[in-house]
Amino acid sequence: MDFSTMAIHEGQAPDAATGATVVPVYQTSTFTQQGIGEHKGFEYSRLSNPTRTALEVSLAALEHARYGLAFASGLAAEHAVFSLLNPGDHIVTVANVYGGTVRLFERLFSRYGITFSYVEGSDAQEFEGAIGSNTKLIWLETPTNPLLTIVDIEAVASIARARGVLLAVDNTFASPYFQRPLELGADIVVQSTTKYIAGHSDVIGGAVLLNDASIYEELRFFQNTIGAIPGPQDVWLTLRGVKTLAVRMRQHETNAFAVARFLQDHPRVSQVYFPGLPQHPNHEVARRQMSGFGGMVSFRLKEGNRESVNAFVKKLKVFSLADSLGGVESLVCFPMVMTHDAVPEKQRLELGITGDLLRLSIGIEGIDDLLADLKQALA
Ligand SMILES: *Cc1c(COP(=O)(O)O)cnc(C)c1O
Repeated sequence: MDFSTMAIHEGQAPDAATGATVVPVYQTSTFTQQGIGEHKGFEYSRLSNPTRTALEVSLAALEHARYGLAFASGLAAEHAVFSLLNPGDHIVTVANVYGGTVRLFERLFSRYGITFSYVEGSDAQEFEGAIGSNTKLIWLETPTNPLLTIVDIEAVASIARARGVLLAVDNTFASPYFQRPLELGADIVVQSTTKYIAGHSDVIGGAVLLNDASIYEELRFFQNTIGAIPGPQDVWLTLRGVKTLAVRMRQHETNAFAVARFLQDHPRVSQVYFPGLPQHPNHEVARRQMSGFGGMVSFRLKEGNRESVNAFVKKLKVFSLADSLGGVESLVCFPMVMTHDAVPEKQRLELGITGDLLRLSIGIEGIDDLLADLKQALA
């Protein structure tokens, strides 16, 4: 079935009880049972709720996964995955990983005796070198934030398989429309549904998608035991967003290409990061493993610093200065102070997150308005 058809119909059959065409918001904490142990599959909404089940089925279908679990946020979804590990275990990840993931690693899971290694990511062999006898998990993000480095998922998956290590991929930046890591050999996919999946900057959520039944059972146990579940209203909003994921992603990408090309030719811009440009160092890998390049574009202002960058962002009228990404509206972000504030300065400089760097989340507004806004602010 086509992606768009699945996004509109999977998990979303008319309501069995009433015929409601759209999955209802089951705003209930509990379910009346007909007799002891006799019920319609639902007992208590931490364990499961019909609106949440609809989203879990829908997102699993879009990632071509057998199982899906929804969480209260992307980080809650990550927390469940890292809870698969035991004290003494080791995780290999990319240096450019989401800041909240680093915080979860270094300030929470490090207290439970789990250790971490960071590799740059564009050479798959680096992962091989970082794996030790206690490595249990490789945690990838691709494209990375904010420099949009592409990691070769298939190559890392074959290394992980050979060494008996689980491979999980944070697929938030690409969305399942452009990239499906399970098909490339990953074991687990995590989504911050807050971003492209919900797509309207109005809800926080996360999901884990996978094929392995025993890992699914363990994660489902964590979902119920920790209780970081999304409420039915949030789940409903996310489901509403999912239905238009395909058309939104196509427009995000078309607009992002135009912005990337415009910035590339602009005399006040020293560097542009967009995996769709042939000049991008990982362009070939991106072409192989993604069916599109997404809607994120980063760039450096020539001789830019915090003051000149601030003057630029204050002049923007269509782009909003804000954290987050993946919504219908265009956003601009200054990673050094906004998304990567928690990253130690030395590490931030090594990553190239400096005072001249800006990240754009390209929305689905008219492209002429976006280009005109950037042009007047750069002038
Ligand atoms: C936003 C984000 C997260 C965290 O998700 P929340 O929903 O904010 O908890 C994780 N990974 C990536 C790549 C993100 O952009």
